[in-house]
Amino acid sequence: MKLTTLTDFYQKLDATTKRLEMIDILMDLFEITPHKEMRAVVYLTSGKICADYIGLELGFADKMVIKAIAKSIGKAEHEVNNLFKKKGDLGEVAEQLIGQTGQQQLEAFFTPSEKSEEGDLTVENVWDILNKIALIEGKGANQKKTNLLLGLYSKATPVEAKYITRIVLSQLRLGIKDLTIIEALSRKYGEGDDSRQIIEHAYNVTSDIGTIGDVLAKDGMEAIKKIKISVGRPIRMMAAQRMPTAEEILEKLGGTCALEFKYDGERVQAHIDGDNIKLYSRNLNEISNMYPDVTAALKRSLKSSQVIVEGEITAWDPDSERLKSFQILMSRKRKYGIEDAMEKIPVRVFLFDILYKDGESLLKKSYPERRTVLESLVKEDSVIVLASRENVSTPDEFVEYFEKAIESGCEGIMAKDIRKETQYQAGSRGFLWIKHKFDYSSAFNDSYDFVVVGGFYGKGRRKGTLGTLLMAAYNSEEERFETVCKLGTGFSDEDLIKITSDLMSITVEKKPKDVISKLEADVWVNPEKVYEIQGADLSTSPVHTCALDEIKKDTGIAIRFPRFIRYRDDKKPELATTTSEVIDAYKRQRLKST
Ligand code: ATP
Repeated sequence: MKLTTLTDFYQKLDATTKRLEMIDILMDLFEITPHKEMRAVVYLTSGKICADYIGLELGFADKMVIKAIAKSIGKAEHEVNNLFKKKGDLGEVAEQLIGQTGQQQLEAFFTPSEKSEEGDLTVENVWDILNKIALIEGKGANQKKTNLLLGLYSKATPVEAKYITRIVLSQLRLGIKDLTIIEALSRKYGEGDDSRQIIEHAYNVTSDIGTIGDVLAKDGMEAIKKIKISVGRPIRMMAAQRMPTAEEILEKLGGTCALEFKYDGERVQAHIDGDNIKLYSRNLNEISNMYPDVTAALKRSLKSSQVIVEGEITAWDPDSERLKSFQILMSRKRKYGIEDAMEKIPVRVFLFDILYKDGESLLKKSYPERRTVLESLVKEDSVIVLASRENVSTPDEFVEYFEKAIESGCEGIMAKDIRKETQYQAGSRGFLWIKHKFDYSSAFNDSYDFVVVGGFYGKGRRKGTLGTLLMAAYNSEEERFETVCKLGTGFSDEDLIKITSDLMSITVEKKPKDVISKLEADVWVNPEKVYEIQGADLSTSPVHTCALDEIKKDTGIAIRFPRFIRYRDDKKPELATTTSEVIDAYKRQRLKST
């Protein structure tokens, strides 16, 4: 398949913000994609070259791309840079410059055998080169990467150059999320009403949209149904809903439920295959290198050869036998000096679930059954222990356990459904698990994880920094970000410096197409940073777009008096608080105040 064919579709996708139109365009694209190139097309369209959990990065900075563009057209880097400053998008710069000069000026850089015609690139060929680029490491890596990019430019049409540039900078931003691709795939390949569900399940257990596209194109639905858990490949994690009172939670969970401490650390999904152990974070990034003490302890503690378990890694003080804060644990997140960090910040892992054991998926088993299997496998020691757990049936028992959790240094409790149909719902946020944090017990003091979509420059002492941020909730049905508040308090001076520098590296020229805002920010940023904030209460707002028209016409819901709490680097934007959670919180608040 020619790359121009694919980039023609990208132009169509770029031209619409409507999800249904995007799905139609994707279906047309999949229709003409040769089976063997489906994997590459799916990855590239979602702006990557492989499944996220593989952790392969292309590793391009703006500077390297500017160098490659300049070289490919025989101009000075500063000229390219000047145009970049005007346009704010290197993709458009590549399109304009490479288009302007054609390929004539490449003579100086290529031998005749290396030259080839514009429009010659194929999808397969580009994907191979991008994979090669991602694997380059060590001395001279940047130069080698830039040379390979130069090679691609030499054969690219202007439009291809634009999209190649955006892909290498991880800025494709067609507004296509994995679930949109799943919808298009299930309309194209589905057989029957439950196809979408089956495909989504396969995606949830593989965490790999490219594999799903590949299997469907080559072998259809029957093959998708046979996709199984594979130890070493992460499963998309189950998440919890939130509820404010013991009474409501008990009622929702059928009168009796299990309560567990909600430890405040880092969620881990551990894949153990004999001596080969891989740890994955909430975002499905591999974090094994960060926790050699955890992998060693799991090896000692688990009496089974192949298992997938989940738990919370916490910072632990062995002297006082107490939990330490999430912030302390985060200071272990570093590339170098792990041994030193391991000694200074010991950890303890509280295991709470098991998803797989020796060839058998446990996803369909009920939660009590899974917990029994887990208990039978774990030999507790100073690092690996089981999450504290108790069954309760009355609000008094509930509150007593909750208080015990808070006294033990936890952020609250997890209430879990213990009835028969309580399977592990990979990738979904349902009511089988309900979290109840300390914040929720006071009337209007909820905490939320919102996504930064824009910033406003500060005045006075805050001059030069982005002193106020535009925050958004994630609308998981429409797959877009809807503004919910302006955040300007709770930052320390260091926070302001860090936030400004983090955000300035992800600014975009125009409001991203998956951001819905009535406000005009000074600076728009790609929606990728998640921050936890606390609000005083929720109100309807004519200015914000979260839940627009849901409560009142032309009106959204806003968080009042928001305050910054902490960075949530462990969360992808799609894991942020959703619009429907905001609507629920608003309705609950209204009920309480009537
Ligand atoms: P939060 O911001 O509340 O940590 P989250 O979006 O990361 O939420 P949720 O599923 O909403 O995840 O809340 C559950 C989180 O609580 C898990 O992701 C996990 O990290 C943590 N946790 C701590 N103790 C437990 C437990 N006993 N069972 C399940 N999850 C637990």
